[in-house]
Amino acid sequence: MAYDFDLFVIGGGSAGVRCARIAATHGARVGIAEERFWGGTCVNVGCVPKKIMVNAAEYGGWAQDAARFGWTMEVKGFDLATLKAARDAEVARLNGIYGRLLGNAGATVFEGRATFLDAHTLDVAGKTVTAERIVIAVGGRAVRPGIPGDELGMLSDDVFDLRQVPKRLCVVGSGYIALEFACVFQALGSQVDLVYRADLPLRGFDHDIREALKEALEAQGIRQHVGHHPARLDRQGDCLLLSLQGGAAVEADAVLFATGRVPHVQGLGLDKAGVMCTAKGAVEVDEEHRTTAPNIYAIGDVTDRLNLTPMATAVGHALADSLFGNNPRKASYLNVPTAVFTSPPIGTVGMTEADACLHGPVDIYMTRFTPMRHTISGRPGKKTLMKLVVCQRTRRVLGAHMLGEDAAEIMQGIGIAVAAGLTKEDFDRTIGIHPTAAEEFVTLR
Ligand code: NDP
Repeated sequence: MAYDFDLFVIGGGSAGVRCARIAATHGARVGIAEERFWGGTCVNVGCVPKKIMVNAAEYGGWAQDAARFGWTMEVKGFDLATLKAARDAEVARLNGIYGRLLGNAGATVFEGRATFLDAHTLDVAGKTVTAERIVIAVGGRAVRPGIPGDELGMLSDDVFDLRQVPKRLCVVGSGYIALEFACVFQALGSQVDLVYRADLPLRGFDHDIREALKEALEAQGIRQHVGHHPARLDRQGDCLLLSLQGGAAVEADAVLFATGRVPHVQGLGLDKAGVMCTAKGAVEVDEEHRTTAPNIYAIGDVTDRLNLTPMATAVGHALADSLFGNNPRKASYLNVPTAVFTSPPIGTVGMTEADACLHGPVDIYMTRFTPMRHTISGRPGKKTLMKLVVCQRTRRVLGAHMLGEDAAEIMQGIGIAVAAGLTKEDFDRTIGIHPTAAEEFVTLR
């Protein structure tokens, strides 16, 4: 049977755009549909606009520090409208680039929703389209915690529509999103209350990093309500009252629920195509990213594996190369470096100490210091922590973890070393760049 397309991609985010573009450059007849915005979460309501806000937040601290370095300056305030205009313009520019990339590669672009009619047929904004292979790349969406009144709170998407910095912001959760926005808004002038269920923030990260982060959050004035579950949210006059289980409550002008994201599969008609989901609602895939329907694949956050943009693009690229480029390959989920853009930021790659200990004895190398800039600035909460987890038997560096300025930039290079399987002695042989914080990674003893 002749299909309209060799490949149809549902979803124009990081994973879908990369897969469609590369498949088209390999000569496949590709269609792609996006119902909301080209570039998906990352470009529109995630990594990109968030990082611009992180940049904005940093200027306040630097302006404050400048006096200690001899500068005379007066900071009169912060205007969110100016930042919003610049940020929205950059997002619009990137949207355009994404759209053009697809067109230039020869993909046929559809703006609208695609749903399955059967395993080879889709309804795309009212038009019936057939494809030999279909890729589901619809991403995820933020969820509320399911407590009474939670519709009164914001989700991460809503943060980008704010017109004013809330005087008091209550953030619920202690994952990437909660912590990044807590730090941004505290630096922009909000009093932030952070409510989380565990005893330390950032579950799944190395214990020492979590402890140091908790301390850093406290030093910058973020009030942490540790070991608390939210119970209900009520409006009280002009403000909101978040009641916590056990009786305590937090009053705020705005509440942000950063309580996780789920795969965005609702209404896709997966059952009509024979595509099954896991118990957690993610599309079930095998190692080749094939779903339970043999001609249908799923990539990116909808598979809920490692929900990071570079992972999604790597998987999308590998799938296109495998299907149409005569180059069957898989993107590796091992030793993926990642960063959390808190203040200071966190960079990490490989195993935590706790994970590594499950595989055998380890040696730990760790240092904690005040970076040179802040020995002068005296700004609290700016201490750096660097840690290497080393296998005692092979001396291989199994994990590297950092909380401190430039951690994200530094960890990209360290990630290559960890992924390459280098040993502690390889690190030691490398000459440091002086004076930097990064040199500590090659001088840890
Ligand atoms: P996470 O899954 O990382 O964190 C969710 C947080 O919400 C946890 O602290 C969790 O608590 C808490 N939580 C969940 N349900 C409830 C509830 N009912 N009541 C109270 N607290 C609750 O999700 P995020 O939304 O922060 O991020 C989603 C993903 O997006 C990340 O995993 C990451 O992969 C990606 N991302 C990456 C970024 C980056 O690379 N810098 C930036 C932002 C997002 P507990 O720990 O107790 O379960």
